[in-house]
Amino acid sequence: MQTVRVRIVAAELEAKRIADVLERLYEDEGNPVSIYESTDDGREWTAEILLFEVEPDEAIADVRSRIGSDAFSAPVEADILPELNWVEKSLEGLKPVTAGRFTVHGGHDRDKVPGGGIGIEIEAALAFGTGHHGTTAGCLEEIDRLFSMREYDRVLDLGTGTGVLAIAAALRSRQPVLATDIDPVATKTAAANARMNGAGHLVHTFSANGMNDRRFGEEGPFDLLIANILARPLMQMSRDIAAHMQPVSTLILSGLRIEDGPRILFAYGCHGFHLSKRGEKEGWLTLTLVRGRPQA
Ligand code: SAH
Repeated sequence: MQTVRVRIVAAELEAKRIADVLERLYEDEGNPVSIYESTDDGREWTAEILLFEVEPDEAIADVRSRIGSDAFSAPVEADILPELNWVEKSLEGLKPVTAGRFTVHGGHDRDKVPGGGIGIEIEAALAFGTGHHGTTAGCLEEIDRLFSMREYDRVLDLGTGTGVLAIAAALRSRQPVLATDIDPVATKTAAANARMNGAGHLVHTFSANGMNDRRFGEEGPFDLLIANILARPLMQMSRDIAAHMQPVSTLILSGLRIEDGPRILFAYGCHGFHLSKRGEKEGWLTLTLVRGRPQA
């Protein structure tokens, strides 16, 4: 998930006016806007907004076109923020995490998987998903719960990162799972992790932006989709996701802040999905939605 910071440096009043305008223009999307003094003498102030999943030049063009390029003379700059939140360098030193009957662990903790549990060994490298994040753990619990009630025959893990959720579903069900990610490094990592966990033959991967690839048409429609991405892309993708789901199907959606719940429910409600289960972990929300006859 690329985050681009767009900055406009100006005198105090001008910068504050620009920050106010940005706040209003991006209100619906909720992009964070900040304003701060950027020189000690107070002569320069910076109005700043974060945009997601865009390139810096697109971000500048978007801000300029929304504000109106002749509304101010200050230069607009953009840079890419380091993706710290999405990157776990290594599991070294991190404790194993247990969620449902899954225990996610690094190579050094193979012996920590409780008897009867399902161990998932992850070498996180450059992808997100070690189980230490509340969203991943929330999804793992739901995967365990859903598979304990019934089988699913076409499962998609959208935004797979390290592949942790796809591997969990594959090990739990012993059935094929499709795992995709916008980031080719993630899909490669996921495939390697699946092999390491003896699920290489079950987890099939490819890179794609959202559901935007003809291969989803060939592999779907799906009856279970797991997507631990952020609220905004999940809102944007709701129509595409719904279009690739079977009439009777289940979604596990995570990466959501508590306050994102209502708009996600509304967006997916428009496509016939309703809330089946809601879980909170460390301020993050995981929603299970179903369409068709109640099943989860
Ligand atoms: N499923 C893992 C990783 C979640 S991190 C877990 O639960 O721990 C979110 C992942 O979604 C990242 O790997 C990111 O690259 C991917 N992603 C973000 N936007 C996406 C999009 N539009 N299409 C597909 N994948 C996306």
